[in-house]
Amino acid sequence: MFRKLHLKLTAYMGIILILFMFFVSAGIYQFTKMVFEDGNKELMRAEALRIYNYKNTAYTQYFFNGTLFKRHIQINPLENRRLDACYVVYDQYMMPVLSEEGEIKIADHIKPLAQKAFEEKKDSYETQKIGRFNYRIYTRYFNDFTGQSVVQVYQNTVNEDILWSFLRTVLIMIGITGTVILLVLSYMLTGKALTPIRETWKRQREFVADASHELRTPLTVIQTNLDVVLSDEDGTVDENEVWLDNAYSETRVMARLIDQLLILAKADNNEEELDISEFSFSEVIENVCQSMEVIAAKKNIELITNIEDNIIIRADYDKMRRLAVILIDNAVKYTEKGKVTVSLKTDKNKKVLIVEDTGIGINEKDLERIFDRFYRADKSRHREGGVGLGLSIAKWIADKHKYSLTVESTVNVGSKFILRM
Ligand code: ADP
Repeated sequence: MFRKLHLKLTAYMGIILILFMFFVSAGIYQFTKMVFEDGNKELMRAEALRIYNYKNTAYTQYFFNGTLFKRHIQINPLENRRLDACYVVYDQYMMPVLSEEGEIKIADHIKPLAQKAFEEKKDSYETQKIGRFNYRIYTRYFNDFTGQSVVQVYQNTVNEDILWSFLRTVLIMIGITGTVILLVLSYMLTGKALTPIRETWKRQREFVADASHELRTPLTVIQTNLDVVLSDEDGTVDENEVWLDNAYSETRVMARLIDQLLILAKADNNEEELDISEFSFSEVIENVCQSMEVIAAKKNIELITNIEDNIIIRADYDKMRRLAVILIDNAVKYTEKGKVTVSLKTDKNKKVLIVEDTGIGINEKDLERIFDRFYRADKSRHREGGVGLGLSIAKWIADKHKYSLTVESTVNVGSKFILRM
């Protein structure tokens, strides 16, 4: 499922990237071309004027004493030249009076443009394919005291065309390589972004599977016991007390489990808010220890309390009580002989609750996972222990209050849970 999603996300990114690359490359290409064309047009326009001026200076006509004199002054037409272009100058009779053509002569082909300029009395600029090559032609119309004339400046664009096609290839190559690199990167990044979701999903699935499994066990026990009762058609309630007791105690297990599951589900949805108030944590611990004393005494375990008076905290009363119950209950539950010591004190400006026992301890491998949901170090102790949700709830309560809950333990020596507030 995640593999498909991963590929899908990369494909979406890919489409966006390809479109982006296409528009950026096409944009760069068109913009460069536009700027270049505009610049060229201006240059050709200026060149047409320069040639026109040159023609006027080169062929001066003047009247002297009623006689028309024509004088040809020798000026280098290449002087001040800014553009490598050919040209033709037509007088008002459409006669070419001045021209400089390249090896390929195209003046006759573009003559209609000059004709049009005379007719419309305006300039034109266009690109035409003549023979094998493209030509850029600027036709400029002049009308002043020397009469009407048209100057045509034109250029073969073969070199530029090669350059443009080279630019196109380069942009396409950059576009393709860029897209491939970005696709690989986006595949890696989406994979990274999906990792926490994948893990949460996996944890959630495990949680549902474990929860169903844990609910199934008491349900099966209830069913089996009720089956026995039902099969004894003539039996009284008293006669079936043992089976009914079994079923009843399992409903309590289920109720506790569902209660814990609800807390964690709310915690996951961030629905569970803290109901903060100021209260004496010393009193809470005292109270919890008192209620545990009977169970401890039953197991012959000494429950020692070392509680500093009046340790006040600002926290969620119910949750902090629950946390204390979980730690102290576990200490008693997982201790066969010896003692459980509960201390509450102030240490370096921090309030610290320490629940220490001389019980079975937890081995190093299990220590890392002890706060995980449904994690039980010794699965065979299922019935007397819980289902492995207590410590994960305790940890969540501590985290939610921004307190730290840590554990130190040695197998067969004992465990020490420390809550720093
Ligand atoms: P459970 O409901 O099974 O007690 P917890 O989440 O409270 O679940 O504890 C998880 C596991 O951590 C227990 O199954 C047990 O193996 C281990 N554990 C917890 N507290 C202690 C302790 N004080 N001493 C030894 N093992 C402990």
